[in-house]
Amino acid sequence: MNTNYDPNSINTIIAQVENENALPMAVSALKQGGLVAFPTETVYGLGANALDETAAAKIYAAKGRPSDNPLIVHIANTKDVYELASNVPEKAVMLMEAFWPGPLTIILPKKDIVPDGTTGGLKTVAIRMPSHPAALDLIKKSGLYIAAPSANTSGRPSPTTALHVAEDMMGKIDVILDGGAVGIGIESTIVDLTDDTPSILRPGFVTKSMLENVIGPVNIDPALINLDPTLRPKAPGMKYTHYAPKGELTVVEADPSKGLSSTKDIIDVINELTEDKISQGYKVAVITTQDNAPFYISNNVLIAGEEGKGETIAAKLYSILRQCDDLNVDFIYSEAFNHGELGSAIMNRLLKAAGQRVITV
Ligand code: AMP
Ligand code: MG
Repeated sequence: MNTNYDPNSINTIIAQVENENALPMAVSALKQGGLVAFPTETVYGLGANALDETAAAKIYAAKGRPSDNPLIVHIANTKDVYELASNVPEKAVMLMEAFWPGPLTIILPKKDIVPDGTTGGLKTVAIRMPSHPAALDLIKKSGLYIAAPSANTSGRPSPTTALHVAEDMMGKIDVILDGGAVGIGIESTIVDLTDDTPSILRPGFVTKSMLENVIGPVNIDPALINLDPTLRPKAPGMKYTHYAPKGELTVVEADPSKGLSSTKDIIDVINELTEDKISQGYKVAVITTQDNAPFYISNNVLIAGEEGKGETIAAKLYSILRQCDDLNVDFIYSEAFNHGELGSAIMNRLLKAAGQRVITV
């Protein structure tokens, strides 16, 4: 492990989680203040000792992450929340009991032991207990709290495989633990519990209604719904452009008043746009479902999942956005995936990737 940190000259080791040497190597890197990418059930995380400001600073350097964008602290025991947070309200306890380990991050007032370098200067701390066995093992065996944002270069789609991590992080971090493709594919739901009424700062796999079943009314950060640029999202990371592929991505959505016939209209509009761009010499990709794929004329039809099954779309979305870069396409047209309970979390990411460029048909 390189202790003199230069974010561009590290010998990165990729190790399968099943390899008996993998975990000890990752633990040793973390204990020495190094960086380890590891699988979680949501996306791959880029971990460092959360209580060591110098180690946390390396995460920002490796990702090119703005310093005001705080990190989520990962723990393996519920009781550790009381070490990190100065006040743990009853609703937080109820959420921890209902959803941990799992894809839910809670925001609480921080204790002094959590350095400003981990929380981007905020007096609050984001905490999550992941359910992926390799993540839990790493946290337990290291005996540390692990600060870990997604293991991508800032602005790129979050990694859902170790290969994605390697694309962005080779030579910049110490170890990549390869645990295969992740299950969920989009980042955790973030809930702020520092106000009387809890609010969702980032939508995710745990939906508003799932939360409300446990703790009653939950708000959604107005900056997530209203695109007024003067509203500042309460999760600093939500204000940044994210996931944007190099090609220009446009989402084509149905006018809700048109009902079922709208799918055909969306396909027609995307095919017209495709034809127009191809005739001008551009390369085009289309993002759709398995069900609608046969109807598109593009040479690059990318299948995100199955119609109406949000979880299949969430699992594939980021790798498809990365694939658009690999294919070097100039224009990308995506159907809107407002499918089921996960729809708002998927659309939040897709619209960010599209820079909010939408055509309504
Ligand atoms: P990532 O782990 O890359 O998905 O990024 C973590 C997300 O959590 C970012 O959007 C952060 O802005 C958000 N976050 C982390 N800590 C806090 C906090 N104390 N208050 C509000 N948002 C936070
Ligand atoms: Mg991220």
